[in-house]
Amino acid sequence: MRGDSDGFDAIVIGAGATGAATTLELSRRGWRVVCVDKNATAGSGSTLNSSAIVRFSYSTKPGTILAWEGLHYWLNWPEYIGVDDENRLIEFRQCGKLMLLTDDSDHPQRVRAIWQELGIPFEDWSLEDLAQRLPIFDHSSFGPPKRPTDEAFWDEPAGKLTGAIYSPSAGYVNDPQLCAHNLQRAAEAEGAHFRFNSQVTGILRSGGRVSGVELGDGNAIHALVVVNVGGPHSNVINQLAGVYDSMKIKTRAMRHEVHIVPSPEGFDYESEGHVTADHDTGIYFRPEVGNNILIGSADPACDEPDWAEPDHFDETVSESQWEAQVLRASRRMPELGVPYQKKGVADLYDVSDDWVPVYDRTELDGFYVAIGTSGNQFKNTGVAGHVMAELITSVEGGLDHDHNPLVIEGHYTGLPIEVGFFSRNRDPANTSMSVFA
Ligand SMILES: Cc1cc2nc3c(=O)[nH]c(=O)nc-3n(C[C@H](O)[C@H](O)[C@H](O)COP(=O)(O)OP(=O)(O)OC[C@H]3O[C@@H](n4cnc5c(N)ncnc54)[C@H](O)[C@@H]3O)c2cc1C
Repeated sequence: MRGDSDGFDAIVIGAGATGAATTLELSRRGWRVVCVDKNATAGSGSTLNSSAIVRFSYSTKPGTILAWEGLHYWLNWPEYIGVDDENRLIEFRQCGKLMLLTDDSDHPQRVRAIWQELGIPFEDWSLEDLAQRLPIFDHSSFGPPKRPTDEAFWDEPAGKLTGAIYSPSAGYVNDPQLCAHNLQRAAEAEGAHFRFNSQVTGILRSGGRVSGVELGDGNAIHALVVVNVGGPHSNVINQLAGVYDSMKIKTRAMRHEVHIVPSPEGFDYESEGHVTADHDTGIYFRPEVGNNILIGSADPACDEPDWAEPDHFDETVSESQWEAQVLRASRRMPELGVPYQKKGVADLYDVSDDWVPVYDRTELDGFYVAIGTSGNQFKNTGVAGHVMAELITSVEGGLDHDHNPLVIEGHYTGLPIEVGFFSRNRDPANTSMSVFA
């Protein structure tokens, strides 16, 4: 792919984690890339407030393979980035992850079967194991999840957990925004350009294919490849490109809150705790610096989806969701204090119809998408960049990906990554229809 007036082969819209990784991977393949973002720095979109959990508990095999391959980028981060960052490099904290089980644990059991097939390590924990490692947990089953305004919320629990599945390889990244900056520095070392404070307001076409982008200041940048990695603005950009209607899988922004509370008195959750998926109460939580616990939503059916306009949404923590998530956590950890002062963030997921991302080309030749990350693709930052770069180079090299879908061998695991699974035109995948996908 060569030859245009600005000297760029590709324009990546969005300098979040995925956009910065795509920029790096294309640059490493010799492409001249400019990454454009309307914000002032890399990783200041939804990446900024990511819980940054790295886990492999997906209900589909292709989704699990992608996440398992994705882990290895974090394990090899300094070598992968390959340069210094004046802001330092991120740290991957491999604290392990628990899935708490009840009699009707559909999602964890699906996950367990896939892990067994792929050889992903896990341990089955009894309630005694759980009590030994996490003495702060109440083993009652409170489900199905409810809102605190439901008077059944405080009912005496009817049953008990049946155990847990522990995944020792999982963890979280300490600073997701820094991750995007690390990728920016690595991409710049390969010759990539980053243009901040530059909003894309139009997608240019010429000769039946994409030819560049128009910016809010009236300038244009030309290139024969443009990649939409706009996070929660993905559908706005697809509409600018005129491809929104042609895609079977749609994306839209959904607001989510994440809250931070201190560990229960006398227990150091930061060093002793694990990432925990608690489908029974409707939350996930993980260790957080300062001996805190970070609590997010598992998207239980009783919580109305909070669809949002990406440019106009409430960025403050709400009383009702704070109560819902923190009180759910306090049922599982009765010693957890519920602070008077609310602490946390509100930000947007870019949710696809089946909570699986879309990594694909589009009907407009040269226009690609890495979108629909559905609150669960930060963990795949490195591998998603790799997938997009392989896809783009293959399609621009003549591959008919729609009819002969690309399969990539994972660089670290050697497992087959079926890129067609992430197609814009798939039938919706059979998933948990939640952040756990
Ligand atoms: C609260 C929360 C918790 C999460 N927790 C996890 C987790 O624990 N684990 C996990 O794996 N994933 C998690 N995620 C998801 C993860 O953070 C995202 O998948 C990932 O960060 C997405 O990165 P991105 O680069 O695609 O998008 P973003 O980071 O949103 O980047 C998109 C960029 O595009 C730019 N942009 C948009 N429109 C334009 C335009 N017109 N012109 C120029 N620039 C534009 C924006 O400014 C932005 O910087 C979470 C997300 C949220 C919101």
